[in-house]
Amino acid sequence: DAREAIAALRRELSPRGNVVSPESRARTVAVFGEPLSPLQVVERICDHVATRGLEAVLDYTRKLDQVALKPGEVRVSADELDAAHRGAAPEYLATIARIRENVLTYQRAILNRDVHIEPKPGLKLGLRYTPLRRVGVCIPGGAAAYPSTLLMTVVPAQAAGVREIAVVVPPTKFGGYNPELLAACRELGVTEVHRVGGAQAVAALAYGVEGIAAVDKIVGPGNLFVALAKKHVYGEVDIDSIAGPSEVVLIADASADPRFIAADLISQAEHSPGASILLTWIPGLVERVQAALEDQLAKLSRGDLARDSLERFGALIDCRDEEQAVTLSNLFAPEHLHVSTADPERLVPALTVAGAIFLGNLTPVALGDYAAGPSHVLPTSGTARWASGLSANDFLRRSSLIAVDERGLAELAPDVRRLADVEGLTAHRWSVDVRLEKAGRP
Ligand code: NAD
Repeated sequence: DAREAIAALRRELSPRGNVVSPESRARTVAVFGEPLSPLQVVERICDHVATRGLEAVLDYTRKLDQVALKPGEVRVSADELDAAHRGAAPEYLATIARIRENVLTYQRAILNRDVHIEPKPGLKLGLRYTPLRRVGVCIPGGAAAYPSTLLMTVVPAQAAGVREIAVVVPPTKFGGYNPELLAACRELGVTEVHRVGGAQAVAALAYGVEGIAAVDKIVGPGNLFVALAKKHVYGEVDIDSIAGPSEVVLIADASADPRFIAADLISQAEHSPGASILLTWIPGLVERVQAALEDQLAKLSRGDLARDSLERFGALIDCRDEEQAVTLSNLFAPEHLHVSTADPERLVPALTVAGAIFLGNLTPVALGDYAAGPSHVLPTSGTARWASGLSANDFLRRSSLIAVDERGLAELAPDVRRLADVEGLTAHRWSVDVRLEKAGRP
């Protein structure tokens, strides 16, 4: 029953993939002359960029972003980055620098370490991690500016040791012409910023165009066109994930303050659309949270947006008991899980499926969104079942290491011969035999 109820809740509250606005749909018709689906739009854009390169990127930038860029204007110049940095408020730059340190500290601490073992005499095995050479980072810029997303994507890559980081961001006042964003790039040591967004930017990063060299991996959030384009180019390059609308599940006991819960639900809802779900087994808490929601929504600047989002994608759920709340949360597989209980550590072992877990009544999700250290790029739409949030380890590749001496070779040889015989790969067998023969150990 619970499984079915949660599946229904997911369908209801969290549409798979980001929503396309009526304006965006009208733009599709204006640009392509027909009501193509977002997937068709993305395929067309990617194919054009793959075949026509920068010319196609500029063409789509003109049609979709209404910005006519000349080839030399795509990349933000070093002078522009410097000027934005000089013009930024010192306190803002200090904030960026402090958060960078927090993110670096955490991301370095969780970095995978090389492994070396000698399971048998004469056999050495290992695993070596090396950073990706060149990475592309998508920063959204259609509706708002996101310096926080720059921090939460670029700094993990830097912690992993990625040398070349290319940021793409739409040519808008929230993106490639946003002084705070450009100042943050400069503060983080990002020198390659391109003013292109949407599917055309993803395709440029994947295939490489004049002025934007192809990358090995593309990370970062974006709207549906960005998400579908990343899916389309996967295989040509790696990607981090396909991000959908943001979401939070709150598990609350009697220790939780209804005003805190309301603030947390609303702060999620102001992303819009995004699911905000409360699970509690405390009688009367749902009603108290409802009253606190009303009170706070009336006072907030983005109150109407959050109200609309809560009405469409919010749920306050009375559970039978704590165990049921835990079961429902695990089935929902939330991007953010906030455990607003007196003893969150006790519940956490049972909460096995969530992108990021926030423990205790003093730890709002906003801390993770902005400043704590783990990346805020997290698995949405139930993908936390199998996916994890972005981290420095996503910018590392693994190489296994194998080395034997004569003893190790002789030890493994019989099994290699047996399987080579079964598979009929005689040269495989010979490559072992020839060595043992020379060593006088047939
Ligand atoms: P965006 O930069 O992702 O997308 C803007 C681009 O979309 C435009 O440059 C344009 O090229 C393209 N586009 C728009 N309409 C199109 C159409 N009809 N056909 C083809 N292309 C079209 O910016 P956005 O729209 O503001 O979306 C950002 C999204 O990222 C939001 O949903 C936001 O919630 C999300 N976000 C997520 C995180 C996270 O960490 N998960 C962080 C920040 C933002």
